[in-house]
Amino acid sequence: MVKLAEWRGKELFRKYGIPLPVGQVARSPDEAEAIVRSGAVPLPCVIKAQVLAGGRGKGGAVRFADTPADAKAAAAAILALEFKGEKVKEVLLEQKLPIGKELYLSFALDRARRLPVLITSAQGGVEIESVDDAAIDRQPVDPFPGLTAYEKRRAAKQLGLTGPARAALDRLLDGLWKLFVVEDAELVEINPLAIVGDGLVALDAKVIIEDDAAFRHPEYAEIRDDRTPLEEIAREKEIAFVQLDGNIGVIANGAGLTMATLDVLKEFGGRPGVFLDLGGTDDPRKVTEAFLLMAEAHPKAVFLNIFGGVTKCDTVAKGLVEAMAQVPPSNRFPLVARIRGNNEKEGVEILRSAGITSIPTLRESAQAAVAAAGGGP
Ligand code: ADP
Ligand code: MG
Repeated sequence: MVKLAEWRGKELFRKYGIPLPVGQVARSPDEAEAIVRSGAVPLPCVIKAQVLAGGRGKGGAVRFADTPADAKAAAAAILALEFKGEKVKEVLLEQKLPIGKELYLSFALDRARRLPVLITSAQGGVEIESVDDAAIDRQPVDPFPGLTAYEKRRAAKQLGLTGPARAALDRLLDGLWKLFVVEDAELVEINPLAIVGDGLVALDAKVIIEDDAAFRHPEYAEIRDDRTPLEEIAREKEIAFVQLDGNIGVIANGAGLTMATLDVLKEFGGRPGVFLDLGGTDDPRKVTEAFLLMAEAHPKAVFLNIFGGVTKCDTVAKGLVEAMAQVPPSNRFPLVARIRGNNEKEGVEILRSAGITSIPTLRESAQAAVAAAGGGP
């Protein structure tokens, strides 16, 4: 999933003719001050953290400034934030516009209907999840004719727009629809879409590009804002690796078994921290690589839960033993193993000769992993 930061989303908006406030990105308080002082962004202005999480307004990550000194101080405060676990590295400075009303507008993919859907609400500016369902209109859009006049008319009615504002909405919807299709987006959201005078301005931008279309968009290859450095390395090595906020590392194979393993650990009070899906491989070196990557994430304990199918138990055991020999002492952790299936006997034997016991049942092995992460035996 390629989730774009607000300013990148707004660059796309600009390309498709969607009206925006004047704005510029800064990466330090001094840069923010200079941008305002030069008049590149007029005062009063808004300073906004460029993080992927929403709810910045409520969370102190959107501030207003009347002078260059204010802008510098606000940028300094925001750049020092860690917003919902994400370090703020950039701020967007924007001219502050006099808002008449805040509306909500998006195109999203409705997976149940298997169609794009145009979502509108006259109650914008707050997270759409918190808006009463009765105040939200959802219109499926058939991609073949594309967005029709009827759909635009209904959107205008829903948003209460008439006259010049209604004409502005028509143009904006055409541009946004085109962006959604051409850029292979799975979501384009404007919240708030502000009524300013007779016109409309996109004050926020959330754009998510469909991962399966990434090959058509090499321009996004460099945007990996939502991956941790280890996830980045894993991706290059083609290892499915996801970091969560717990402390137990999980190595399993196949999405189903991996998810089930996370669930079982939770069930016994554990907190999965990283999971790694070995997938199907018959190369012990791949297992070693995956294991060393896991060690880099400094888990409190690792639970290896393998069902030998394409990936045979002895392949995993060999790779594991090799990796154990390479993990530096500072990255060591307790390991709980459960390997079942193809070549189980050989695998269990290889582990045993390296001093590792495979616990055959899921319940006991998961409980052992939870205990080990808590500092137990
Ligand atoms: P988030 O959705 O993360 O809270 P937004 O970009 O939607 O962040 O900003 C939050 C609120 O800040 C908006 O609802 C709007 O009221 C105000 N705001 C944002 N940008 C501007 C702007 N350029 N001019 C005036 N008000 C703004
Ligand atoms: Mg918003």
